[in-house]
Amino acid sequence: MSKIAGSCLCGAIKYASSVEPVMVAVCHCTHCQKQSGGAFSVNVAIPKGSLQVISGKTTVFQDVGSSGQPVYRHFCSTCGSPIYSDVVATPQLDWLKAGTLDDTSWIKPVANIWCESAQNWVVYPEGVPRFPQNPPAAS
Ligand SMILES: [Zn+2]
Ligand SMILES: [Zn+2]
Repeated sequence: MSKIAGSCLCGAIKYASSVEPVMVAVCHCTHCQKQSGGAFSVNVAIPKGSLQVISGKTTVFQDVGSSGQPVYRHFCSTCGSPIYSDVVATPQLDWLKAGTLDDTSWIKPVANIWCESAQNWVVYPEGVPRFPQNPPAAS
């Protein structure tokens, strides 16, 4: 079974993908905090365009990333769950919101990004690289 299968909170949107995830990064940027209502978002990088929405239709909020280029934030318009972000500045990757996965047991973040805007109480896992903004290679 593929690792990439999940839904929004109300179940209107269901998705799947047969691809292997590329990596997992935790983003502490203020936009992810606003969108999630939490302290950060946990993002699974997958090859761009590989996510198949098999039920329902996402609504898109056009955000702007630090690059000045658009970030298309796909979410459920019924329950508000963020599903994934299509970041124009990362032409190879889409960023799936890990909390919407049916099985999160395999999630293992390899980076914390935008730590300069992280909430004060956040404790970082040992040995996971931290970046004040985007990692140099991905900015
Ligand atoms: Zn929903
Ligand atoms: Zn973010």
